[in-house]
Amino acid sequence: MSETTPALTPMMKQYLEAKAAIPADAVLLFRLGDFYEEFFEDAEKVSRALDLVLTRRQNMPMCGFPYHALDTYLPRLINAGIKVAIAEQMEDPKSVKRLVKREITRIVTPGTVVDGKMLDRNSYYYLTGLRLSADGRTAALAALDVSIGEFFCTANEPVEVIVNELIRLGTREVLIPSDDAERWDKLPGGRPDLGKHTSWTVRDKRDFEPEAAAEFLCRHFNIASLDCYGYRDNPDGLAAAGAVLRYATESLRQDAAHITEIKRRRFDRNLELDHATIRNLELVSSASDAGKDGTLLGVIDATITPMGGRHLKNWLLLPSRDVDELNGRYDSIAHFLDDPGALTDVRELLGQVRDLERICGRICLGTASVRDLLALKESLRILPELKTKLLDLNTPLLGDLARKFGSFSTLVELLEHAINAEDPGQLGDGKVFKTGYYREMDELRALSGHGKDLLSEIQQREISRTGIKSLKVRYNSVFGYYIEVSKANLDLVPFDYVRKQTLVNAERFITPELKELESKILGAEERIRALELELFKNLCDVISPMLNDLKQTADALGDVDVLSGLADVARRNNYCRPEVFDDQRLVIERGRHPVLERLLPAGEFVPNDTTFDGYLRRMMVITGPNMAGKSTYIRQVGLIVIMAQLGSFVPADRAQIGLADRIFTRVGAADDLTRNQSTFMVEMVETANILRHATPRSLVIMDEVGRGTSTYDGLAIAWSVAEFLHDDCACRTLFATHYHELTELAITRRGVNNFNVKVEETPDGIVFLRQIVPGPSDRSYGIYVAKLAGVPDEVLKRAGDLLKLLEDTPGGIEQAILQIPAYTARLKRGGKADPRDGDGQLILV
Ligand code: ADP
Repeated sequence: MSETTPALTPMMKQYLEAKAAIPADAVLLFRLGDFYEEFFEDAEKVSRALDLVLTRRQNMPMCGFPYHALDTYLPRLINAGIKVAIAEQMEDPKSVKRLVKREITRIVTPGTVVDGKMLDRNSYYYLTGLRLSADGRTAALAALDVSIGEFFCTANEPVEVIVNELIRLGTREVLIPSDDAERWDKLPGGRPDLGKHTSWTVRDKRDFEPEAAAEFLCRHFNIASLDCYGYRDNPDGLAAAGAVLRYATESLRQDAAHITEIKRRRFDRNLELDHATIRNLELVSSASDAGKDGTLLGVIDATITPMGGRHLKNWLLLPSRDVDELNGRYDSIAHFLDDPGALTDVRELLGQVRDLERICGRICLGTASVRDLLALKESLRILPELKTKLLDLNTPLLGDLARKFGSFSTLVELLEHAINAEDPGQLGDGKVFKTGYYREMDELRALSGHGKDLLSEIQQREISRTGIKSLKVRYNSVFGYYIEVSKANLDLVPFDYVRKQTLVNAERFITPELKELESKILGAEERIRALELELFKNLCDVISPMLNDLKQTADALGDVDVLSGLADVARRNNYCRPEVFDDQRLVIERGRHPVLERLLPAGEFVPNDTTFDGYLRRMMVITGPNMAGKSTYIRQVGLIVIMAQLGSFVPADRAQIGLADRIFTRVGAADDLTRNQSTFMVEMVETANILRHATPRSLVIMDEVGRGTSTYDGLAIAWSVAEFLHDDCACRTLFATHYHELTELAITRRGVNNFNVKVEETPDGIVFLRQIVPGPSDRSYGIYVAKLAGVPDEVLKRAGDLLKLLEDTPGGIEQAILQIPAYTARLKRGGKADPRDGDGQLILV
């Protein structure tokens, strides 16, 4: 502020103090009466983001909005990447004469949103902390969803594994220590691009120091040492966890008691899917950004509860590699399918279950509503019946899940007894608790109700006493209860009325009797309000100690939901139970593409087989015309493996799957303009990643490698990539290519087998049969596809003529190109398109 700035008002002083107490990058919403006001640069930022009018007072920019619009504006600010601190009035301005006390009650950042209205029900909202190791090759990660208290960390893992995890989590906000910021920028590829909805926040490096973090975590969990979380093995992961929890509690401005443990996430028992694969196989979002439709998640998600929705996404993006775990899931699905009645019952019961995890979060954070407690009651009420049904199904996994359900019958009874489910109104209105729950409440209600009856009695009595038929007993907040008499009847007003206010058409009076009654009624109402809040808080305090049981129950319900949902999907789509093995086989009989088969009319999808044994059948080179179905087929194999490894049945008649450690894909051509990389560069970056990391247990899907560059260059690259995958990576590979030359690989490589997509030539053109059959394809039919696409006839004819020249000229393409002018001239003179004479000699020049 300049020297000419007028002396600060006490309010402005208070504002500046609050502003100094929040992080520099947060804007302050300062509550002034019925408005949140912003000043200086904050006002400019907020008015821009919300499109509000910016005004000036004494040259000071300011803007504001009514307090009740916070629900609308806050999400918009957060989505615009703005951190928001909220300063509330801590006293009722009416009851204090001096400056009202104000406090920062909450800092909301993209990673610390807990307000249900801002959260999608099926998604996690992670706040993530990252700590790079000294050499910068590995990093540890911790992630926390504050709204439900889900909290885990990893050990040091290669940076690319951690970056994949970041992307997979859909992190909203990433915290890094100040001394890592530059190191992240200098990594090959720079800071990972996490999209526009993720913000990076640099924190004091001391928050990430293992000792400081450990001390903070011990205090939060009230434990003496972090050994129970494996601190000795993983100080870095726990350091990141400490930094994350510290930031979260600072933002929430309170302890987050619902965060009760830190889990450890390991990657060695999982099928690792990288970002490219998640995108290329359209697991959770489709290439056209059409949301969930057209994705694998869209097909397999029949979950009913929010917990189930979130768990399924987790299972899908981090599938398992554990034969026993998967068989446990298949067994559960199989039992559901054997007992369709039980399946229907279980799903009906799950229909009553609400978002228990987030409700628990809100109870602990003191933001739970009456509706939350009613939803809690309804959700818990079904547990005994659900438990019996699951135990009856008699499978180990469903039995274990059912046994994890806590016993909440007393809590359900208490809630039943306490809360008025019919019309509880808003907390403080006095209607939340049932009659009979708390004696004082009943008495106060009687007093307030009785008082109101008395008021109408007074009105009746005064009408008959004065003879003024229009006399009314009314209330306003300025001077409470009063008697209103119209001007025309003023001469009938008795002497004991005390005049309080004169209006145009009426006068308002009070009487001692009215005032006495008023203080009783208002006193009772005020007390009802306070008592209701107190009773509600007590109820929440009764529930808080049950938190661990509730969370465990919610977790188990989520899994039951996923399993029963997968059973439902398997039944509707006729999937089969896969067999899984710890080896390299991959045998699929009559496999189908789970998404495409649903989009096509029933019966139109053509199933196909796949056989890999890891030795003599290690690489499928698939040739065939464009549009024949190559991409669909190779993706379908990847999707079937992912489905099996997440625990689902699969679209096939039979499937034997040697569990994959990673699935890599190189499909389609997407220019990554935001990163300023050309299509070919993207293609090569993804290829390099595959060649460096594929193991004999991996499944690699290559579509048209080398397409983005010149023919020779592309063929040479495709050839050597295929050789390397076969010889060095020794992985299972599906290699779709338009380079016919690659089919020669089968001659020199034992594990390479050629396939093509069957095409039938008819007098009217060709018919794609969509069948994958052994052997190389003989032609590519590109011109036919161009015709289907509506390329003009002239161009098609010219292309046909040129194709003939290119194919038939001895000496290869280069010789043929030299012949183009003469060949063209000859055609113009009416010559034959065939460039050879009867003896096969070139007849052009
Ligand atoms: P390619 O990769 O050979 O150019 P695609 O896999 O993109 O061909 O398939 C082209 C179209 O053929 C797809 O859009 C799909 O509608 C159809 N198709 C592919 N495979 C099948 C199949 N097995 N059954 C029925 N239709 C299919």
